[in-house]
Amino acid sequence: MSSIQLVNIVKDWGDTKALDTINLTIEPGSFCVLLGPSGCGKSTTLRIIAGLESASSGQVFVDGRDVTHQPPAQRGIAMVFQNYALFPHLNVADNITFGLSVRKVNAAETADRLQATAGLLGLEKLLDRKPSQLSGGQQQRVALGRALVAQAKVCLMDEPLSNLDAQLRQEMRHELRELQQRLGLTVVYVTHDQTEAMSMADQVVLLNKGRIEQSAAPRTLYAQPATTFAARFIGTPAMNLLRLQDGHIAGSQVAVKRFGDFLGIRPESVALTGSIPATVQSLEYLGADLVLRCAVGSELITVRASGSSELAAGAQVTLQWPAQAEHYFDSQGCRVH
Ligand code: ADP
Ligand code: MG
Repeated sequence: MSSIQLVNIVKDWGDTKALDTINLTIEPGSFCVLLGPSGCGKSTTLRIIAGLESASSGQVFVDGRDVTHQPPAQRGIAMVFQNYALFPHLNVADNITFGLSVRKVNAAETADRLQATAGLLGLEKLLDRKPSQLSGGQQQRVALGRALVAQAKVCLMDEPLSNLDAQLRQEMRHELRELQQRLGLTVVYVTHDQTEAMSMADQVVLLNKGRIEQSAAPRTLYAQPATTFAARFIGTPAMNLLRLQDGHIAGSQVAVKRFGDFLGIRPESVALTGSIPATVQSLEYLGADLVLRCAVGSELITVRASGSSELAAGAQVTLQWPAQAEHYFDSQGCRVH
């Protein structure tokens, strides 16, 4: 188990600032997810941790040791690439030990490590198979096996599941999380998929334009988004952000309790039985859920109702939400309550 620390990491590509003063601590044995939209700096952060890219300024520590100027091989870190990058013509055993032969680890040591790794990952009976003869989950274990056999204490993964279909992706998430916990690995995992991040992470680091928007446990990120960006990025359907004017929802008579420029309310917190008059503008039926867009004043409120409710566009409804479901943000998008 290893900890990772990034201190004041900046990365410039010519005029583009890919990373702007990243400060981050990743606990040993934890599953950390770097989350954010395309181009926000996730891969760059991962590659700087790995040593595949050097920062313009700032430092990288592994277990308190400054590795900023060390080459990748000396960092004790393994990177698992998209689609696992297994060699199709090599069997499982050779795929796992490939890196050791490159590093000239002797045959006896290699055999010992292979046996131990295969045992941990339940791959003993598959060592002679080619990658094409493995399921997706087994391929993932082989890719992890490479990291373990190299005795890497940290495993970095850049969108490893993004080319898989939805069902397989869900199985892989589950299996990967289970393995990470059982083996006590420190994993840093990149994805743009908030569901993936929320379901796997101990710590989610939400990036936006090269800066950390918020770094927190999934439950905290959901319950206490620090900014409107975080509020909208986490959760589907996204949190409502209603414009406020003079203490009211814009264009309405509905007074709010606190001061702010935006009122945030999650669609699942809004009930269809209450005292705030609204008009249903459109509906989206999703089976278990019915997602309604309701006009209140000049604002639209998304409501996540039960799929069994029978409402049509044009219907008049009355809405309500508990006071503790309210989030207030200022004009800069920062949380104020
Ligand atoms: P993400 O992985 O979150 O999609 P990246 O870390 O790949 O984002 O990229 C962050 C920013 O840095 C983007 O604006 C991207 O265009 C830029 N960038 C990444 N790699 C390079 C490079 N080799 N040369 C120039 N710009 C780059
Ligand atoms: Mg990327």
